[in-house]
Amino acid sequence: MSLPTHLLDGYDRYLNKGFVRNRETHERLALYGQTPEVMVVSCCDSRVTPEGIFNMGPGELFVVRNVANLVPPYEDTEGQHGTSAAIEFGVKGLNVKHIVVLGHGQCGGIKAFREHANAPMETGQFIGRWIKLLEPAAIAMACMPVDKADDPQLAMEYAGIRQSLKNLMTFPFVEEAMRDRGMQLHGAWFDIGSAELRVLNDRTERFEEVAHPPIKAVANSV
Ligand SMILES: [Zn+2]
Repeated sequence: MSLPTHLLDGYDRYLNKGFVRNRETHERLALYGQTPEVMVVSCCDSRVTPEGIFNMGPGELFVVRNVANLVPPYEDTEGQHGTSAAIEFGVKGLNVKHIVVLGHGQCGGIKAFREHANAPMETGQFIGRWIKLLEPAAIAMACMPVDKADDPQLAMEYAGIRQSLKNLMTFPFVEEAMRDRGMQLHGAWFDIGSAELRVLNDRTERFEEVAHPPIKAVANSV
């Protein structure tokens, strides 16, 4: 069974552009291993690509993606804790300096949570069980300062990011890395249509747009 043609074509383009340009980086990374300074917890959504948004190349971002960019609370129980395993490796194995929880607009996972708040999904559905992680966020949301947009979908997206940051702090090694070596946690939100990036200001506790020079009218095709 062959891969879809457009993937093979894309791979061909990658070899002749991205790889050729970064050949030395690849060789260095293969020889010495990875040392990314930043970990990103992002959504599976195909429209939100951390490497694309931050224009990072191979070896620069340690990324874990899941439905609705959620971090579960620390749990010392049996089970396959995929996101927690990635966090453990990022913090203890790679000693990342920053963890960014990157949420986004029109998040399907958040939408599913909002739609099923009063009509729980069938037992056994993975998404239903996973997005239950948002329940404390929904409760906490009522106590947070009102964000500039009252849109309930956006408010829940913000609350999910805040809850994930809170849950990160429940991991003993995260708390330790922050205290002992100054690791920082960040919340950010990305708008798919406009590419606007908002970052959680821990002083004002609000998501604020990142200042940037005006976008050039014509995209550079090279
Ligand atoms: Zn999403």
